Amino acid sequence: TPTRATAAASAQDVSGGHGTTAAGVTITGLHKSFGDNEVLKGIDMSVAPGEVVCLIGASGSGKSTLLRCVNRLETPNAGTITVGEHEATHPDVNLDAMRRQIGMVFQQFNLFPHLSVLENCTITPRRVLGQSKAEAETEALAQLDAVGLKHLSERRPDQLSGGQQQRVAIARALTMKPQLMLFDEPTSALDPETVGDVLASMRELAEAGMTMLVVTHEMGFAREVADRVVFMDQGLVVEEGPASSVIGAPQQPRTQDFLRRVL
Ligand code: ADP
Ligand code: MG
Repeated sequence: TPTRATAAASAQDVSGGHGTTAAGVTITGLHKSFGDNEVLKGIDMSVAPGEVVCLIGASGSGKSTLLRCVNRLETPNAGTITVGEHEATHPDVNLDAMRRQIGMVFQQFNLFPHLSVLENCTITPRRVLGQSKAEAETEALAQLDAVGLKHLSERRPDQLSGGQQQRVAIARALTMKPQLMLFDEPTSALDPETVGDVLASMRELAEAGMTMLVVTHEMGFAREVADRVVFMDQGLVVEEGPASSVIGAPQQPRTQDFLRRVL
């Protein structure tokens, strides 16, 4: 398709067989206020195609707002954001086309409670991509298999643990063949014993070459999986670099304070 051809210039092939490409993100001079409250005060950051960036910082520092600006759930006051070939902040951006390239996984899984796991994973590809039932089910079962939940495809969400529901949410997002995945504290609402399986699925996705921007308090995951860690405080990027630097040997006092509190 023309979309793929255009993206190919700045993207790499991802996850064998699917022919998915990875889109990068570039954020320049991003400002966002809610009334008098300036939440993002000039953010510059990027995620290269296929890169995994973990975004860390205290509650209220603007991490969720930043993620929500990327897929335009929030409208920035100033600055530019590009996702692959889409300029998210352009007045004429095709938001539907852009959002189809972006998978998002939240703290709350937001599965449809009245649908089976399989139906949760097929409804959007059928409605939005016009896939047949059989086509959508084949893809959904492949994605559920990848997160280890194919055998639970006929269950309702409330018959699954929180961690299993979150893995369904990841599989559901992947059925749309996104080029970028945004994660907003995907394990923060989970029982500790189910966190590991979710992180393992995210790690596999990272290893498959997906572009990922992950807000997380899981410093172990960030150290092991992130190509880069970005520390935000009060609406600004304070420090960024490899996890071994930002988490292992932070230079900025605010980063040091934050890590002393979470580690
Ligand atoms: P984080 O995800 O780092 O905890 P958020 O981006 O959720 O931070 O919030 C940053 C600040 O923006 C907070 O002060 C929060 O109250 C405010 N905020 C976030 N969303 C809204 C909104 N829709 N309306 C008003 N204020 C908001
Ligand atoms: Mg948040």
